[in-house]
Amino acid sequence: MESERKMHFHTRVIHAALTPGEWQGATLPPIFQTAAHCHETAENLSDTFGGRTTDHIYARLTNPTNRVLEQKLAALEGGRGAVFMASGMAAITNSCLALLRAGDEFVCGNSLFMSTYVLFANVFKKYGITARFVESTDLAAIEAAINEKTRFLYLETIGNPKMDVPDLARAAELAHSHGLPLVVDNTLATPYLCRPLELGADIVIHSTTKYLSGHGDAAGGVVIDGARFNWSSERFSDFAPFVERKGELAYLDRVWRELHINFGTTAAPLHAYLTMLGLDTLALRMERHLTNAAQVAAFLASRPEVKWVNYPGFADHPQHRVAQKQFGGLGFGGMLTFGLADQAACFRFINNLKLVYHLANIGDCKSLVIHPYSSQYLSFAEEPKRNLSITPDLVRLSVGIEAVEDIIDDLAQALAKI
Ligand SMILES: *Cc1c(COP(=O)(O)O)cnc(C)c1O
Repeated sequence: MESERKMHFHTRVIHAALTPGEWQGATLPPIFQTAAHCHETAENLSDTFGGRTTDHIYARLTNPTNRVLEQKLAALEGGRGAVFMASGMAAITNSCLALLRAGDEFVCGNSLFMSTYVLFANVFKKYGITARFVESTDLAAIEAAINEKTRFLYLETIGNPKMDVPDLARAAELAHSHGLPLVVDNTLATPYLCRPLELGADIVIHSTTKYLSGHGDAAGGVVIDGARFNWSSERFSDFAPFVERKGELAYLDRVWRELHINFGTTAAPLHAYLTMLGLDTLALRMERHLTNAAQVAAFLASRPEVKWVNYPGFADHPQHRVAQKQFGGLGFGGMLTFGLADQAACFRFINNLKLVYHLANIGDCKSLVIHPYSSQYLSFAEEPKRNLSITPDLVRLSVGIEAVEDIIDDLAQALAKI
Protein backbone atom coordinates (compact mmCIF):
# COMPACT_ATOMS: atom_id res chain seq x y z
CA MET A 1 0.00 0.00 0.00
CA GLU A 2 2.78 2.40 0.98
CA SER A 3 4.66 1.79 -2.27
CA GLU A 4 1.40 2.16 -4.26
CA ARG A 5 0.81 5.55 -2.67
CA LYS A 6 4.13 6.83 -4.00
CA MET A 7 3.36 5.78 -7.56
CA HIS A 8 1.61 8.05 -10.01
CA PHE A 9 -2.15 8.13 -10.35
CA HIS A 10 -1.90 6.57 -13.84
CA THR A 11 -0.29 3.51 -12.25
CA ARG A 12 -2.38 3.32 -9.10
CA VAL A 13 -5.66 3.55 -10.99
CA ILE A 14 -4.72 0.28 -12.69
CA HIS A 15 -2.98 -1.60 -9.89
CA ALA A 16 -4.53 -0.46 -6.60
CA ALA A 17 -6.16 -3.26 -4.56
CA LEU A 18 -5.45 -6.00 -7.12
CA THR A 19 -3.94 -9.25 -5.82
CA PRO A 20 -4.07 -11.65 -8.80
CA GLY A 21 -2.68 -14.51 -6.68
CA GLU A 22 -6.10 -14.68 -5.04
CA TRP A 23 -7.88 -15.40 -8.33
CA GLN A 24 -5.73 -18.16 -9.82
CA GLY A 25 -3.65 -15.59 -11.66
CA ALA A 26 -6.53 -13.72 -13.26
CA THR A 27 -5.72 -10.02 -13.69
CA LEU A 28 -9.15 -8.92 -12.55
CA PRO A 29 -11.31 -10.59 -9.90
CA PRO A 30 -13.99 -12.87 -11.32
CA ILE A 31 -17.65 -11.93 -11.18
CA PHE A 32 -18.82 -13.75 -8.07
CA GLN A 33 -22.34 -14.42 -9.31
CA THR A 34 -23.77 -15.82 -6.11
CA ALA A 35 -26.54 -14.93 -3.69
CA ALA A 36 -24.92 -16.48 -0.63
CA HIS A 37 -21.69 -18.08 0.58
CA CYS A 38 -21.24 -21.45 2.33
CA HIS A 39 -19.58 -21.61 5.73
CA GLU A 40 -17.75 -24.70 6.93
CA THR A 41 -18.76 -24.40 10.53
CA ALA A 42 -21.50 -22.82 12.60
CA GLU A 43 -18.74 -21.10 14.59
CA ASN A 44 -17.41 -19.40 11.43
CA LEU A 45 -20.82 -18.07 10.37
CA SER A 46 -21.42 -16.79 13.88
CA ASP A 47 -17.98 -15.09 13.89
CA THR A 48 -18.75 -13.53 10.51
CA PHE A 49 -22.09 -12.16 11.71
CA GLY A 50 -20.21 -10.85 14.74
CA GLY A 51 -17.73 -8.98 12.52
CA ARG A 52 -14.78 -11.12 13.62
CA THR A 53 -14.05 -12.32 10.07
CA THR A 54 -14.26 -10.52 6.72
CA ASP A 55 -15.89 -13.54 5.06
CA HIS A 56 -18.99 -13.08 2.93
CA ILE A 57 -22.50 -14.08 3.97
CA TYR A 58 -25.19 -12.94 1.57
CA ALA A 59 -25.26 -10.87 -1.64
CA ARG A 60 -27.22 -7.97 -0.17
CA LEU A 61 -24.49 -7.49 2.45
CA THR A 62 -21.19 -7.91 0.60
CA ASN A 63 -19.76 -9.51 -2.53
CA PRO A 64 -16.10 -10.40 -3.23
CA THR A 65 -16.03 -8.64 -6.64
CA ASN A 66 -17.61 -5.51 -5.20
CA ARG A 67 -15.13 -5.55 -2.31
CA VAL A 68 -12.14 -5.27 -4.63
CA LEU A 69 -13.71 -2.28 -6.37
CA GLU A 70 -14.44 -0.72 -2.97
CA GLN A 71 -10.80 -1.08 -1.92
CA LYS A 72 -9.66 0.35 -5.23
CA LEU A 73 -11.93 3.40 -5.10
CA ALA A 74 -11.02 4.07 -1.46
CA ALA A 75 -7.32 3.96 -2.38
CA LEU A 76 -7.77 6.32 -5.35
CA GLU A 77 -9.59 8.92 -3.26
CA GLY A 78 -7.21 8.56 -0.30
CA GLY A 79 -10.00 7.12 1.85
CA ARG A 80 -9.95 4.28 4.38
CA GLY A 81 -12.99 2.35 3.18
CA ALA A 82 -15.88 2.39 0.72
CA VAL A 83 -19.23 0.81 -0.03
CA PHE A 84 -20.25 0.26 -3.66
CA MET A 85 -23.98 0.65 -4.30
CA ALA A 86 -26.55 0.25 -7.06
CA SER A 87 -26.41 3.89 -8.24
CA GLY A 88 -25.08 7.32 -7.44
CA MET A 89 -28.46 8.18 -5.90
CA ALA A 90 -28.25 5.13 -3.62
CA ALA A 91 -24.86 6.40 -2.45
CA ILE A 92 -26.20 9.92 -1.88
CA THR A 93 -29.31 8.69 -0.05
CA ASN A 94 -27.33 6.42 2.26
CA SER A 95 -24.44 8.83 2.83
CA CYS A 96 -26.87 11.54 3.96
CA LEU A 97 -29.34 9.42 5.92
CA ALA A 98 -26.47 7.96 7.96
CA LEU A 99 -26.06 11.50 9.31
CA LEU A 100 -29.72 12.47 9.65
CA ARG A 101 -32.60 11.92 12.04
CA ALA A 102 -36.10 13.42 11.90
CA GLY A 103 -35.83 17.11 12.83
CA ASP A 104 -32.22 17.45 11.69
CA GLU A 105 -30.95 19.96 9.15
CA PHE A 106 -28.06 20.16 6.74
CA VAL A 107 -26.59 22.83 4.49
CA CYS A 108 -26.05 22.20 0.79
CA GLY A 109 -25.28 23.99 -2.45
CA ASN A 110 -28.31 25.20 -4.42
CA SER A 111 -26.83 23.99 -7.72
CA LEU A 112 -27.09 20.27 -7.11
CA PHE A 113 -27.61 17.43 -9.58
CA MET A 114 -31.31 17.13 -10.44
CA SER A 115 -32.24 13.97 -8.49
CA THR A 116 -30.12 15.07 -5.52
CA TYR A 117 -32.09 18.31 -5.47
CA VAL A 118 -35.42 16.46 -5.54
CA LEU A 119 -34.26 14.04 -2.80
CA PHE A 120 -33.13 16.90 -0.55
CA ALA A 121 -35.92 19.40 -1.25
CA ASN A 122 -38.95 17.09 -1.46
CA VAL A 123 -38.27 13.55 -0.24
CA PHE A 124 -36.25 14.25 2.92
CA LYS A 125 -38.76 16.99 3.80
CA LYS A 126 -41.49 14.34 4.18
CA TYR A 127 -39.45 12.81 7.00
CA GLY A 128 -38.94 16.10 8.86
CA ILE A 129 -35.45 16.79 7.52
CA THR A 130 -34.61 20.30 6.33
CA ALA A 131 -32.06 20.99 3.60
CA ARG A 132 -30.84 24.60 3.70
CA PHE A 133 -29.92 25.52 0.14
CA VAL A 134 -27.29 28.22 -0.30
CA GLU A 135 -24.95 29.40 -3.04
CA SER A 136 -22.27 26.69 -2.94
CA THR A 137 -19.45 29.20 -3.49
CA ASP A 138 -20.64 31.68 -0.80
CA LEU A 139 -18.90 30.71 2.45
CA ALA A 140 -20.66 33.47 4.40
CA ALA A 141 -24.06 32.16 3.26
CA ILE A 142 -23.04 28.63 4.21
CA GLU A 143 -21.97 29.78 7.67
CA ALA A 144 -25.17 31.79 8.17
CA ALA A 145 -27.27 28.68 7.41
CA ILE A 146 -25.56 26.56 10.11
CA ASN A 147 -27.38 26.17 13.43
CA GLU A 148 -27.52 23.71 16.34
CA LYS A 149 -29.58 21.25 14.28
CA THR A 150 -27.10 21.14 11.37
CA ARG A 151 -25.44 17.76 10.80
CA PHE A 152 -23.25 18.27 7.72
CA LEU A 153 -22.31 20.40 4.74
CA TYR A 154 -22.90 18.90 1.26
CA LEU A 155 -21.26 20.19 -1.94
CA GLU A 156 -20.48 19.07 -5.50
CA THR A 157 -16.89 19.54 -6.72
CA ILE A 158 -18.29 20.89 -9.99
CA GLY A 159 -22.02 21.61 -10.00
CA ASN A 160 -24.01 19.64 -12.58
CA PRO A 161 -24.91 21.55 -14.73
CA LYS A 162 -24.29 24.97 -13.11
CA MET A 163 -20.52 24.39 -13.43
CA ASP A 164 -19.81 26.27 -10.18
CA VAL A 165 -16.68 25.24 -8.27
CA PRO A 166 -16.71 25.71 -4.49
CA ASP A 167 -13.38 26.06 -2.66
CA LEU A 168 -13.41 22.68 -0.89
CA ALA A 169 -10.43 23.37 1.41
CA ARG A 170 -12.07 26.51 2.78
CA ALA A 171 -15.49 24.82 2.97
CA ALA A 172 -13.96 21.94 4.95
CA GLU A 173 -12.30 24.39 7.33
CA LEU A 174 -15.59 26.19 7.84
CA ALA A 175 -17.53 22.93 8.42
CA HIS A 176 -14.92 21.68 10.88
CA SER A 177 -14.94 24.98 12.80
CA HIS A 178 -18.61 24.17 13.55
CA GLY A 179 -17.89 20.52 14.35
CA LEU A 180 -19.51 19.33 11.10
CA PRO A 181 -18.34 16.89 8.41
CA LEU A 182 -18.10 17.91 4.75
CA VAL A 183 -19.67 15.50 2.23
CA VAL A 184 -18.60 15.99 -1.41
CA ASP A 185 -20.10 14.59 -4.62
CA ASN A 186 -16.94 14.26 -6.72
CA THR A 187 -18.63 12.73 -9.79
CA LEU A 188 -17.74 15.45 -12.31
CA ALA A 189 -14.11 15.82 -11.24
CA THR A 190 -13.16 12.18 -10.52
CA PRO A 191 -10.12 11.43 -8.30
CA TYR A 192 -7.94 12.09 -11.36
CA LEU A 193 -8.75 15.80 -11.22
CA CYS A 194 -9.56 16.33 -7.54
CA ARG A 195 -9.34 14.37 -4.31
CA PRO A 196 -11.63 16.13 -1.83
CA LEU A 197 -10.44 14.05 1.16
CA GLU A 198 -6.94 15.47 0.64
CA LEU A 199 -8.46 18.97 0.72
CA GLY A 200 -10.13 18.29 4.08
CA ALA A 201 -13.48 16.78 3.13
CA ASP A 202 -14.63 13.85 5.26
CA ILE A 203 -16.83 11.80 2.94
CA VAL A 204 -16.78 11.48 -0.85
CA ILE A 205 -19.52 10.04 -3.00
CA HIS A 206 -19.59 9.26 -6.72
CA SER A 207 -21.99 8.22 -9.37
CA THR A 208 -19.64 5.60 -10.86
CA THR A 209 -22.11 5.42 -13.76
CA LYS A 210 -20.29 8.43 -15.23
CA TYR A 211 -16.52 8.88 -15.71
CA LEU A 212 -15.36 6.11 -13.36
CA SER A 213 -16.92 3.33 -15.44
CA GLY A 214 -16.71 5.56 -18.50
CA HIS A 215 -18.54 3.48 -21.08
CA GLY A 216 -22.19 4.07 -20.32
CA ASP A 217 -22.61 0.41 -19.42
CA ALA A 218 -22.96 0.07 -15.64
CA ALA A 219 -24.98 2.06 -13.11
CA GLY A 220 -23.28 2.36 -9.74
CA GLY A 221 -22.38 4.61 -6.84
CA VAL A 222 -19.90 4.65 -4.01
CA VAL A 223 -19.53 6.17 -0.54
CA ILE A 224 -15.90 6.64 0.52
CA ASP A 225 -14.95 7.40 4.12
CA GLY A 226 -11.86 9.46 4.91
CA ALA A 227 -12.17 8.18 8.51
CA ARG A 228 -10.68 11.32 10.05
CA PHE A 229 -13.79 13.04 11.40
CA ASN A 230 -14.32 12.98 15.17
CA TRP A 231 -17.68 11.25 15.70
CA SER A 232 -17.34 11.39 19.49
CA SER A 233 -18.59 14.98 19.94
CA GLU A 234 -21.85 15.81 21.73
CA ARG A 235 -23.56 16.66 18.41
CA PHE A 236 -22.92 13.12 17.14
CA SER A 237 -23.58 11.21 20.37
CA ASP A 238 -25.89 8.89 18.37
CA PHE A 239 -22.72 7.56 16.66
CA ALA A 240 -21.46 6.03 19.94
CA PRO A 241 -22.35 2.38 19.12
CA PHE A 242 -20.68 2.68 15.71
CA VAL A 243 -17.57 4.33 17.20
CA GLU A 244 -17.40 1.52 19.73
CA ARG A 245 -17.66 -1.08 17.01
CA LYS A 246 -15.45 0.41 14.28
CA GLY A 247 -13.56 3.37 15.75
CA GLU A 248 -12.49 5.80 13.02
CA LEU A 249 -14.60 3.92 10.45
CA ALA A 250 -17.78 4.48 12.49
CA TYR A 251 -19.44 6.45 9.70
CA LEU A 252 -18.90 3.84 6.98
CA ASP A 253 -20.09 1.13 9.38
CA ARG A 254 -23.30 3.09 9.90
CA VAL A 255 -23.77 3.63 6.14
CA TRP A 256 -23.38 -0.11 5.56
CA ARG A 257 -24.95 -1.66 8.66
CA GLU A 258 -27.89 0.67 9.20
CA LEU A 259 -28.80 1.68 5.64
CA HIS A 260 -27.14 -0.17 2.75
CA ILE A 261 -27.97 -3.69 3.89
CA ASN A 262 -31.46 -2.82 5.13
CA PHE A 263 -32.50 -0.59 2.23
CA GLY A 264 -31.08 -3.22 -0.12
CA THR A 265 -29.11 -0.73 -2.23
CA THR A 266 -26.85 -3.57 -3.37
CA ALA A 267 -24.99 -3.38 -6.67
CA ALA A 268 -24.66 -6.40 -8.95
CA PRO A 269 -21.08 -7.77 -9.15
CA LEU A 270 -21.21 -7.45 -12.95
CA HIS A 271 -21.43 -3.68 -12.43
CA ALA A 272 -18.44 -3.73 -10.06
CA TYR A 273 -16.50 -5.72 -12.66
CA LEU A 274 -17.40 -3.37 -15.53
CA THR A 275 -16.53 -0.37 -13.37
CA MET A 276 -13.13 -1.91 -12.62
CA LEU A 277 -12.50 -2.48 -16.33
CA GLY A 278 -13.42 1.14 -16.96
CA LEU A 279 -11.12 2.39 -14.19
CA ASP A 280 -8.08 0.94 -15.93
CA THR A 281 -8.35 3.73 -18.52
CA LEU A 282 -9.69 6.49 -16.26
CA ALA A 283 -6.48 8.54 -16.26
CA LEU A 284 -6.06 8.25 -20.04
CA ARG A 285 -9.70 9.03 -20.68
CA MET A 286 -9.67 12.02 -18.33
CA GLU A 287 -6.61 13.49 -20.02
CA ARG A 288 -8.48 13.41 -23.31
CA HIS A 289 -11.82 14.58 -21.84
CA LEU A 290 -10.04 17.59 -20.34
CA THR A 291 -8.14 18.66 -23.46
CA ASN A 292 -11.11 17.99 -25.75
CA ALA A 293 -13.43 20.02 -23.47
CA ALA A 294 -10.99 22.95 -23.50
CA GLN A 295 -10.86 22.94 -27.31
CA VAL A 296 -14.61 22.51 -27.70
CA ALA A 297 -15.22 25.36 -25.24
CA ALA A 298 -12.91 27.64 -27.22
CA PHE A 299 -14.61 26.64 -30.48
CA LEU A 300 -18.11 27.32 -29.10
CA ALA A 301 -17.04 30.69 -27.70
CA SER A 302 -15.85 31.67 -31.18
CA ARG A 303 -19.21 30.99 -32.86
CA PRO A 304 -21.74 33.78 -33.43
CA GLU A 305 -24.71 31.40 -32.82
CA VAL A 306 -23.43 30.71 -29.27
CA LYS A 307 -24.51 33.43 -26.80
CA TRP A 308 -22.45 32.24 -23.84
CA VAL A 309 -20.28 29.32 -22.72
CA ASN A 310 -20.08 28.21 -19.08
CA TYR A 311 -16.76 26.42 -18.59
CA PRO A 312 -14.50 26.76 -15.51
CA GLY A 313 -11.44 26.84 -17.79
CA PHE A 314 -12.29 30.35 -19.02
CA ALA A 315 -10.54 33.19 -17.18
CA ASP A 316 -13.86 35.00 -16.70
CA HIS A 317 -15.57 32.01 -15.01
CA PRO A 318 -16.28 33.21 -11.43
CA GLN A 319 -14.34 30.30 -9.86
CA HIS A 320 -11.62 29.98 -12.49
CA ARG A 321 -8.81 30.54 -9.96
CA VAL A 322 -10.33 28.14 -7.42
CA ALA A 323 -10.64 25.49 -10.14
CA GLN A 324 -7.07 26.06 -11.28
CA LYS A 325 -5.76 25.60 -7.72
CA GLN A 326 -8.10 22.74 -6.79
CA PHE A 327 -7.55 20.73 -9.99
CA GLY A 328 -3.77 21.16 -9.90
CA GLY A 329 -3.61 22.74 -13.34
CA LEU A 330 -4.63 19.44 -14.98
CA GLY A 331 -7.80 20.82 -16.54
CA PHE A 332 -11.34 21.93 -15.78
CA GLY A 333 -13.59 18.92 -16.27
CA GLY A 334 -15.08 17.32 -19.34
CA MET A 335 -18.48 19.01 -19.23
CA LEU A 336 -19.70 22.44 -20.23
CA THR A 337 -22.93 24.29 -20.92
CA PHE A 338 -23.66 26.92 -23.53
CA GLY A 339 -26.51 29.11 -24.67
CA LEU A 340 -28.21 29.42 -28.04
CA ALA A 341 -30.88 31.99 -28.98
CA ASP A 342 -33.79 30.11 -27.41
CA GLN A 343 -35.30 26.65 -26.86
CA ALA A 344 -36.24 26.28 -30.52
CA ALA A 345 -32.64 26.93 -31.55
CA CYS A 346 -31.44 24.33 -29.00
CA PHE A 347 -33.89 21.76 -30.43
CA ARG A 348 -32.79 22.45 -34.02
CA PHE A 349 -29.14 22.17 -32.95
CA ILE A 350 -29.66 18.84 -31.13
CA ASN A 351 -31.83 17.39 -33.91
CA ASN A 352 -29.09 18.09 -36.44
CA LEU A 353 -26.20 16.48 -34.55
CA LYS A 354 -24.91 13.34 -36.24
CA LEU A 355 -21.99 12.16 -34.09
CA VAL A 356 -22.89 13.45 -30.63
CA TYR A 357 -25.41 11.22 -28.83
CA HIS A 358 -28.59 12.82 -27.51
CA LEU A 359 -29.28 11.23 -24.12
CA ALA A 360 -29.51 11.80 -20.35
CA ASN A 361 -26.03 10.87 -19.17
CA ILE A 362 -22.55 12.34 -18.80
CA GLY A 363 -19.01 11.02 -18.46
CA ASP A 364 -19.24 8.47 -21.25
CA CYS A 365 -16.29 8.18 -23.63
CA LYS A 366 -18.82 9.26 -26.30
CA SER A 367 -19.84 12.91 -26.58
CA LEU A 368 -23.33 13.43 -25.16
CA VAL A 369 -25.77 16.32 -25.38
CA ILE A 370 -29.08 17.23 -23.71
CA HIS A 371 -31.46 20.18 -23.34
CA PRO A 372 -32.07 19.94 -19.57
CA TYR A 373 -34.89 22.54 -19.35
CA SER A 374 -37.26 20.48 -21.50
CA SER A 375 -36.19 17.04 -20.27
CA GLN A 376 -34.69 16.30 -16.84
CA TYR A 377 -36.13 19.49 -15.35
CA LEU A 378 -39.47 19.38 -17.18
CA SER A 379 -41.52 18.95 -13.99
CA PHE A 380 -39.57 21.55 -11.96
CA ALA A 381 -41.13 24.87 -10.88
CA GLU A 382 -39.51 28.04 -12.24
CA GLU A 383 -37.81 29.07 -8.99
CA PRO A 384 -35.66 25.97 -8.45
CA LYS A 385 -34.90 26.01 -12.17
CA ARG A 386 -33.61 29.57 -11.76
CA ASN A 387 -31.48 28.58 -8.73
CA LEU A 388 -30.04 25.65 -10.63
CA SER A 389 -29.38 27.96 -13.63
CA ILE A 390 -31.54 25.82 -15.92
CA THR A 391 -32.70 28.19 -18.64
CA PRO A 392 -34.57 27.45 -21.91
CA ASP A 393 -31.52 28.51 -23.96
CA LEU A 394 -29.09 26.09 -22.22
CA VAL A 395 -27.46 23.07 -23.86
CA ARG A 396 -25.37 20.67 -21.75
CA LEU A 397 -22.49 18.92 -23.47
CA SER A 398 -20.41 16.10 -22.01
CA VAL A 399 -17.35 16.14 -24.22
CA GLY A 400 -16.18 12.65 -25.16
CA ILE A 401 -12.78 11.29 -26.10
CA GLU A 402 -13.28 11.07 -29.87
CA ALA A 403 -10.92 13.01 -32.15
CA VAL A 404 -11.71 16.59 -31.18
CA GLU A 405 -11.80 17.68 -34.85
CA ASP A 406 -14.72 15.32 -35.44
CA ILE A 407 -16.62 16.58 -32.38
CA ILE A 408 -16.09 20.18 -33.48
CA ASP A 409 -17.11 19.39 -37.08
CA ASP A 410 -20.36 17.87 -35.85
CA LEU A 411 -21.11 20.85 -33.58
CA ALA A 412 -20.26 23.25 -36.41
CA GLN A 413 -22.57 21.63 -38.97
CA ALA A 414 -25.43 21.53 -36.45
CA LEU A 415 -24.88 25.17 -35.44
CA ALA A 416 -24.97 26.16 -39.09
CA LYS A 417 -28.49 24.70 -39.32
CA ILE A 418 -30.12 26.57 -36.42
C1 LIG B 1 -25.55 11.23 -12.33
C2 LIG B 1 -25.21 11.95 -11.08
C3 LIG B 1 -25.68 11.50 -9.84
C4 LIG B 1 -26.62 10.31 -9.71
O1 LIG B 1 -26.02 9.14 -10.07
P1 LIG B 1 -26.82 7.85 -10.65
O2 LIG B 1 -25.76 6.86 -10.86
O3 LIG B 1 -27.51 8.31 -11.90
O4 LIG B 1 -27.81 7.46 -9.60
C5 LIG B 1 -25.28 12.18 -8.72
N1 LIG B 1 -24.48 13.26 -8.79
C6 LIG B 1 -24.02 13.74 -9.96
C7 LIG B 1 -23.15 14.94 -9.97
C8 LIG B 1 -24.36 13.11 -11.14
O5 LIG B 1 -23.91 13.59 -12.31
